[in-house]
Amino acid sequence: MQAVQLDVASLNTLRDGFRGRLVLPSDEEYDRARAVWNAIADRHPAIVARCAAVTDVVAALGFAREHGLPIAVRGGGHSVAGFSTCDAGMLIDLSGMRRLRVDPKARTAWVEGGALLEQLDQAAQAFGLACPVGVIGHTGVAGLTLGGGMARMQRMHGFTIENLISIDVVTANGEQVHASDDEHPDLFWGPSGCRGELRNRHGVRL
Ligand SMILES: Cc1cc2nc3c(=O)[nH]c(=O)nc-3n(C[C@H](O)[C@H](O)[C@H](O)COP(=O)(O)OP(=O)(O)OC[C@H]3O[C@@H](n4cnc5c(N)ncnc54)[C@H](O)[C@@H]3O)c2cc1C
Repeated sequence: MQAVQLDVASLNTLRDGFRGRLVLPSDEEYDRARAVWNAIADRHPAIVARCAAVTDVVAALGFAREHGLPIAVRGGGHSVAGFSTCDAGMLIDLSGMRRLRVDPKARTAWVEGGALLEQLDQAAQAFGLACPVGVIGHTGVAGLTLGGGMARMQRMHGFTIENLISIDVVTANGEQVHASDDEHPDLFWGPSGCRGELRNRHGVRL
């Protein structure tokens, strides 16, 4: 595979203000950083951006766009199709963005893009609550939700996606947008648009 030559000056600019870590093929930790849980996908990104904040995601995305690099986003890294890594591109790794909080009064949870199911389960169960997510704890909440999300509670409480209230999106041009049924509903439709279809098919109560 052909190695990608990244311009040092613009890499340094990306490093300025980057709160997480940028890992390059020449770094000792590169093989660990590029590995995904699903080892079927053995790819070699040009750069692994271990983001610690949304501003890191915006910066990594901008860098990839500027340099014409393909982009992959990694949450839990379970994708069987290998969508959470890439060859010769920018891997936006969200494993450093796993904060979450549960509001027991409102019975809602807020999770960062890289949070895992086991974290959500534990935080919710501390209040005697549960969200209908999948059965394996190290699956990503965002990745599972984007795929619909099914598990043991679905007959009573629906698919994970049916419980999604809103999302904070970084768009392809680096804008940060809050989307829900009321705000930017067109953008919210992308990840959640199948909800009506699922309801029609399965008669699930929301
Ligand atoms: C062992 C195992 C058990 C599973 N169990 C269940 C189950 O019980 N129920 C069920 O419904 N599914 C289950 N799945 C399927 C699983 O939900 C999907 O593979 C899901 O896409 C994994 O999400 P992830 O974040 O772990 O993986 P990733 O590979 O990291 O992400 C999957 C996709 O979502 C994208 N993505 C992830 N996070 C973000 C984000 N924050 N923003 C934008 N894009 C993002 C990635 O780019 C990728 O395209 C299971 C899969 C495995 C391998």
